[in-house]
Amino acid sequence: MELRRRGKYILFQFADRLLVIHLRMSGRLEWGRKLPADRVRLSFRFPTGTVYLVDRRRLAQVEVMEHFERVLGPEPLGDLGFLHFATRNSRAPIKAWLLDQRNIAGIGNIYAAEILFRAGIDPRRPAASLAEAEVERLRIAIPEVLTEAIAAMGTTLTDATWRGPKGELGTFGVRLSVYGRAGEPCPVCNTPIQRVEIGGRGTYFCPTCQR
Ligand SMILES: [Zn+2]
Repeated sequence: MELRRRGKYILFQFADRLLVIHLRMSGRLEWGRKLPADRVRLSFRFPTGTVYLVDRRRLAQVEVMEHFERVLGPEPLGDLGFLHFATRNSRAPIKAWLLDQRNIAGIGNIYAAEILFRAGIDPRRPAASLAEAEVERLRIAIPEVLTEAIAAMGTTLTDATWRGPKGELGTFGVRLSVYGRAGEPCPVCNTPIQRVEIGGRGTYFCPTCQR
């Protein structure tokens, strides 16, 4: 068995088939410790231990397929030079553009908000309106934010659904600058953080720092 990831999909490659899991909003994979049966939606046993899919809201998707077939953009921790031309042809708000997995695969709602804050870009701006220097700030902010979040084991919100593979809590939540902080002061300039909806998703930003 080989374990891989592509975008937000986790791929368990077995000899004759592929098990593909997308955790969505509430799912997580745990390894090792025994979990109560009512919390486990799926488990698979390996010679060295058991992997459990824990998913209280039952939003995770599990599929068995022969080959992985999804139209996904490049990985956000790879070479992001393509951003300079890829953003040029889209009128979509840059926040929605970042969440569209066909453009770039693996950025979710929390991190899109934090990336745009780090890059100082208003999430409502059309992707094509970004100047070269702004795209460059985005290119730098994407791996910075994601690498820091991964090092912190991700973001466990107050619903506590997200945990690491051994049940660890993700500690990036305390370092969120804008996500979920509507009305709180911006950590840079003290302007109250605003919340708007873009493409049906809650979006948080600082109207002073993000232009
Ligand atoms: Zn600010």
